[in-house]
Amino acid sequence: MDKFSTYAGNQLAAAGFTVLDSRVAARLRPDLWRGALDAESESADRGRARLRSLPGIRRFEVTLDEGRVVEVLAWSPDRLAERLAWVLGRAPARIVEATPPAVPAPSVRPPAPTQAGDQHPDIVTAEPGRTCGSCAHFSAGQTCRVPRISGVGRPLAREPRICRGYEPVFGARDRRGARVLWPELFSEASAPPASAAAEVEALDDKHGTLAPTARE
Ligand code: SF4
Repeated sequence: MDKFSTYAGNQLAAAGFTVLDSRVAARLRPDLWRGALDAESESADRGRARLRSLPGIRRFEVTLDEGRVVEVLAWSPDRLAERLAWVLGRAPARIVEATPPAVPAPSVRPPAPTQAGDQHPDIVTAEPGRTCGSCAHFSAGQTCRVPRISGVGRPLAREPRICRGYEPVFGARDRRGARVLWPELFSEASAPPASAAAEVEALDDKHGTLAPTARE
């Protein structure tokens, strides 16, 4: 550990605050440095950064009576001016708490809850449902790639469902897609909402899943 970190850490432990300033440090700890320049050369940024990141530490910009602004770290602002005066010899002219650094937003969004349950409980189909795990639109991240068509963003992999977006994975023996498996889903009475209809059509064209009768 560098000498400046030793000075700051000791002061923080003993007094509950530390003045991160080489001139003040050199004056308070002549046993560590020959003068302010000596202390400045030892004033490692890494040590300061480590102290600033201590959980619960608060940061202040303190204007000394000679007009110089120094950085002070303290566990509490309670009677800070008075406590500083004990080590500086005079009360500071001004103390302003620095804005705490913004907490960065988590880079990984927590996964949305998985969605179970059929989206079409009121529609009876002759063919049973298929699992999302057997669908080409189920991603490695366990999400549905066509949520506007299916109505679910994060479905359960193993739960069978009837779904307008269903398309068997490449190499599946049963090549039938949603349109062929469950024509009941595409009847006039249960047509997809207008917002999803165009996407369903595009999907049909892409995979050629329109039933022959439906294409005619
Ligand atoms: S399209 Fe339907 S069956 Fe395919 S992954 Fe999405 S929800 Fe599951």
